[in-house]
Amino acid sequence: MFENQNNRTELGTLGEFGLIKHITQFIGLKNESSVKGVGDDAAVIDYRVSGGAHLQTVVSTDMLVEGVHFDLAYVPLKHLGYKAVIVNLSDIYAMNATPRQILVSIALSNRFSLEAVEELYSGISLACERYGIDLVGGDTTSSPSGLVVSITAIGEAEKKNLVYRDGARESNLLCVSGDLGGAYVGLQLLEREKKIYKENPGIQPDLEGNDYILERQLKPEARKDLPLIFEGLKITPTAMIDVSDGLASEILHICTQSGVGCNLYEEKIPIDPMTYSRAREFNLDPTTCVLNGGEDYELLFTVDIAHYESIKEHADISIIGHITDSAAGCNLVSKSGTVHPLKAQGWDALRKS
Ligand code: ADP
Ligand code: MG
Repeated sequence: MFENQNNRTELGTLGEFGLIKHITQFIGLKNESSVKGVGDDAAVIDYRVSGGAHLQTVVSTDMLVEGVHFDLAYVPLKHLGYKAVIVNLSDIYAMNATPRQILVSIALSNRFSLEAVEELYSGISLACERYGIDLVGGDTTSSPSGLVVSITAIGEAEKKNLVYRDGARESNLLCVSGDLGGAYVGLQLLEREKKIYKENPGIQPDLEGNDYILERQLKPEARKDLPLIFEGLKITPTAMIDVSDGLASEILHICTQSGVGCNLYEEKIPIDPMTYSRAREFNLDPTTCVLNGGEDYELLFTVDIAHYESIKEHADISIIGHITDSAAGCNLVSKSGTVHPLKAQGWDALRKS
């Protein structure tokens, strides 16, 4: 699914080098640290040690495979390109670091035309523009079927500002940015409309009035504002992770790696009203969507309880629980007050019987 469907230029007419030249021809460099971008055997990046600061380099990579991570029946290629960048930047922000460069590797079958690749790259470029990132290289190859997009993001942080998953300590506050569950409920809507369309191709998808959850699924953003908010509040989280696989699994990662337990309060979990009501319409429990859904790309973090006053007033941050000692385990305290051990259940558990 892509916008420029009138023209179709076969990739075979360009060849690999022609294609690389075509997609990289307008790429410029914005960041001082990007010394050499596309065009040589390797990119050159220089994070200088400036003003006595000890800068460290942060690197993360993610691969998206057609049919596994995305379905081109309802994901426009421009959105796919945008999202592929965002999910990588989110990992860098989750270290409390600043992303500066990405490398993009793609494998394409001959089902894709030059115009389709252009759509994909327009989304990649837009994300680079909005987040101040340089595209400094990549690789291009053919695939027997389908599309694979693999992106590597590189960033910088002062050593003292880096935040790992293993630093949560007893009595820390457990916090999350934004709201959760929307991307998963958006995906359910897209899957439902795809099914209806497959059975009755005459029926147009009914996606009206669902903008927020569709955007959360198709055009997520990374929380580049959070490191700045921390700076403004003079806070360094003790542990942090981005919410890509569902809140339950992310909390368990922090707790396991930090050797602590936690209490998560169901009533404190931030859920947008649209996410809540659409989940109900799909006969899904909104809390379960948050715990096991994923793809929210919000940041989950822990902070010292001394920061309670400054955090509690912040519109973009919710305090959803606190860290306990490991013997207490990781628990969800339901709205009615019952306590359940927190489990990372995966998507099957989402269907209410
Ligand atoms: P090599 O033979 O060294 O692998 P390539 O011919 O694959 O070089 O790539 C030439 C240049 O184009 C390199 O700088 C590489 O990083 C860049 N490049 C290749 N494919 C892509 C892509 N899909 N997106 C961005 N840059 C790319
Ligand atoms: Mg190559």
